[in-house]
Amino acid sequence: MFYFLPREALKNWLSEISKVHEVFVPVSPSGFGPYEGKLYLEKKTKLSAKEFFLPWREVILKFEARPGALPSPVFFEPVKERIIFGVRPCDAKGLTLIEKVFGEDPFFQKRREKTILLGLLCKEPGRECFGWAMGVNPFAGEGLDALFLEQAEGYLVKLLSPKGEKLFKDQEAFEKVGEEAQNSFKKAEKEFLEKHPKAPALEKLKEADLLKLYEADFWEGLALPCLNCGICTFLCPTCYCFDVQDEVVGLEGERVRLPEACMFELYSRHASGHNPRRSPVARFRNRFMHKFKYFLDEYGEPLCVGCGRCNEECPAGINLWEVIRAMSTL
Ligand code: SF4
Ligand code: SF4
Repeated sequence: MFYFLPREALKNWLSEISKVHEVFVPVSPSGFGPYEGKLYLEKKTKLSAKEFFLPWREVILKFEARPGALPSPVFFEPVKERIIFGVRPCDAKGLTLIEKVFGEDPFFQKRREKTILLGLLCKEPGRECFGWAMGVNPFAGEGLDALFLEQAEGYLVKLLSPKGEKLFKDQEAFEKVGEEAQNSFKKAEKEFLEKHPKAPALEKLKEADLLKLYEADFWEGLALPCLNCGICTFLCPTCYCFDVQDEVVGLEGERVRLPEACMFELYSRHASGHNPRRSPVARFRNRFMHKFKYFLDEYGEPLCVGCGRCNEECPAGINLWEVIRAMSTL
């Protein structure tokens, strides 16, 4: 089902739904915040909507820090029903990839259940974007409840889930549209897909021999400029490494889950002191082997939606495509 929202009605509508729901929107080039009249829709934000599902600090257990005390049952931080507007389709697709691994994770799932995700198609792909090459069709809106396509006079909205249908059922600002509008959505999708085909590299990587890739000579050279700073992993909408730590103040303890990065030496260090990925090149290789071989072999898709954030923000100028090229032409 499709609806139309005139451009000038968008802010009013966001204000209206903010009266009943918690509403988050992109507020600046950096990322999302509660809707208070400010909107940044020009480009994708530096931080994706991933942080709403894998937050920067999440309490998973509480305990009394004294001998013999038992931990509390699993602790859920209260999550209010919320709407996130302006999510880019590649970032929503990223959540579906994370869900393949976190499908059984009650914390992640609770946040997914309580969230309505409203997507917004980019007017033009960004300079570093290559989502289509990774097999992402932004018009399919995977992971979203509704998808907004900006047009000359306003937004054409495609409903994608029962949650989306429920939300838009009573929204007076939107008008139902007929076949002509639906066809214009399909036309835009067709034009996009014709111009932006999937990369043949993925098929080659599926066929590639895992051991040969692992032992390839190119890793040393490609990893040389890498600072192991972890920026690429923290900004990536598909990276989900985490650490679990106990934080104790006085007698009150909390077990928390925090985002981590496989690029860090500590991440893979065992309690014994042994580290299977002690060298920077081993960590670099692991990041890309995970994204473009292990995950691809396991789930049939790469762990990358081609958002281009890693290319844009890497201080060492490492370009993901150079890595993919090397991996796929071995
Ligand atoms: S952002 Fe660049 S330098 Fe930093 S860890 Fe990632 S690849 Fe290495
Ligand atoms: S690896 Fe880079 S391009 Fe791919 S999803 Fe992560 S940040 Fe985006």
